[in-house]
Amino acid sequence: MFFINQTFDRNIHQFDDKQKIIYQTIELPFCRCKNCKAKIRVLPENIEPYARFEITIKATSCSKYFSEIIGLSNTVQSFGNFHPHFSNLHRWLTSFGEYVFEAKQCQSKSAHIAESSKFLNKDIMKFWDNQKILISPFKYHTEKRKELLEGVAKLFKTAEFLYPQEKYPLSEWSKFLIQKFFVSPFCKKPKKTERIRKSTPAKKSNRYQRDKKIIEKGKNNASRSPPDSRIQV
Ligand SMILES: [Zn+2]
Repeated sequence: MFFINQTFDRNIHQFDDKQKIIYQTIELPFCRCKNCKAKIRVLPENIEPYARFEITIKATSCSKYFSEIIGLSNTVQSFGNFHPHFSNLHRWLTSFGEYVFEAKQCQSKSAHIAESSKFLNKDIMKFWDNQKILISPFKYHTEKRKELLEGVAKLFKTAEFLYPQEKYPLSEWSKFLIQKFFVSPFCKKPKKTERIRKSTPAKKSNRYQRDKKIIEKGKNNASRSPPDSRIQV
């Protein structure tokens, strides 16, 4: 993998140093894979693929939601005039929950916990299991949502347990996990349609038609699920 002399523009919501959200366009580099010659976008650790908000904003919104008895709207409004929509926060909570319960994400939470207990704090599993979480009943309508919120609250408490001194514990944990697994820990599997679109060449050659058939045939094939087995020990 090596950098090439090309950049791209990426729009992203970020915190400024006063924790106000700003929307800006940043210039980031491309690099190229030595083996397959693919051109790859290089993202900083705080920006996940496809995300419009940096992880620090997501994590801060979620922690705030759990640390006070406030609803989704009031949580996002506490950021000032320019803030995420409350439905964004609802979705982030769902997405972190799917990570905790190991549904739909590309990464395995158990593998992350195991790695963190080896290198960060050996008591992490005990801490995770012994947490007593209480979610205010007005924050959920179903038992399923309650369980999901409890799981996400555990995730954030565990991040604080690992990084008690840091302002953004989950972001720090995410950085550690990126270094260990080379993938952003909380990002979702890209949609299959995006994979197909990416492989579309300018001219539809016969080879493209053949590749397309292979991809579509593989759609219902369970073996296309994420390579969890690769990282599990
Ligand atoms: Zn490659």
